[in-house]
Amino acid sequence: MKKNLIGKDHRLGILGGGQLGRMFIQAAINYNIDVHIMENDADAPSASSATSFTLGDITNFDDVMKFGASLDVLTVEIENVNIDALYQLEKQGVKVYPQARVLEIIKDKGIQKEFYKKNDLPTSEFSFTENIDNLEAKLPFVQKIRTGGYDGQGVQVVKSKADLNSLFKGASIIEELVPFTKELSVIVARNENGETEAYQTVECQFNEVNLVEFLFSPANVTDEIEQRAVKLAINVIEKLDMIGILAVEFFLLENGDLLINEIAPRPHNSGHHTIECNATSQFEQHLRSILNLPLGSTEMIRYGAMINLLGAENHFGKAIYHGLEKTISLPCVYVHLYGKTQTKPNRKMGHITVTNSSLEEAKKSASSVKELIKVIS
Ligand code: ADP
Repeated sequence: MKKNLIGKDHRLGILGGGQLGRMFIQAAINYNIDVHIMENDADAPSASSATSFTLGDITNFDDVMKFGASLDVLTVEIENVNIDALYQLEKQGVKVYPQARVLEIIKDKGIQKEFYKKNDLPTSEFSFTENIDNLEAKLPFVQKIRTGGYDGQGVQVVKSKADLNSLFKGASIIEELVPFTKELSVIVARNENGETEAYQTVECQFNEVNLVEFLFSPANVTDEIEQRAVKLAINVIEKLDMIGILAVEFFLLENGDLLINEIAPRPHNSGHHTIECNATSQFEQHLRSILNLPLGSTEMIRYGAMINLLGAENHFGKAIYHGLEKTISLPCVYVHLYGKTQTKPNRKMGHITVTNSSLEEAKKSASSVKELIKVIS
């Protein structure tokens, strides 16, 4: 029987049921596409909007096999999944995008760094803990756990001899401490036909626990830096021979050099503004890329700033969005709550995008929003 390229003829699944899956579902609904989710928390953000929700462990071989076997296309919203099962599903004819091979490179920050080196992609100097005799000689440095780190967890700056006593246990990479002037990100998509489309470079400001506090679109950089960042991002997705959407995070140095910090093969926090600011959102673009549809225009239609709604310090329990009504009385403020009932400090509970015809005004508006709203218990 002939299948429609768009619509319910596809069985599409996601490993992971967080906010990324939830926003992906919002995009898929417009194309009348069902989305099946597996996650081990029945209250996960996408549980209520998925076509079907399977309770299961995305790191467990049998659970992933069982969930994936009946799908046409399987994607992920987190890298830490069972890769062996994904290889097996690929052999059985399931389209796994991003591919198991790509996830294997990215999941381990050590293998990821070696990939950059092998492919002449600029990144900071690094070594592996097991190969270093004298860590003190490397000070100051950044220690990163090779696998399982997320949202800044598993990353620490080690400045002094005393800090050496609180190193993370486990296989890590030791990176030089990069004196960057800005952190930039480019999101790029690629489909089976090899078509690529990149969004304009954005600028991210992180808080003290390494979570994005503000995002500005586009980044305030020269055209030359903008073009170089986009070219590098396309180069990375092509060298990976990857299908899907990829976020490429950069450090911009004083002299204009760009170093790749890390990559994420899925929709990303640095692309949330695309829902309101660009002709095609990153979620729709991911959908288009994994179904081998024509990629959408990434044209910017409004300047934007995004803030993450993070759980306030010292607040644990049922989430209250204090100041939300005042916030939405401001013009061009777009609220995205992720449906997490319980808050805790720095938990990502939602995000807000503000748009404007001027970047400066969007930034001002984002600062006001930041002051107005708090996630408390
Ligand atoms: P995660 O995968 O948890 O997001 P990252 O590798 O992106 O971790 O690191 C989190 C943050 O730590 C970065 O956004 C940056 O601010 C800082 N950081 C990471 N690596 C370095 C480095 N080599 N030099 C300086 N700062 C760094």
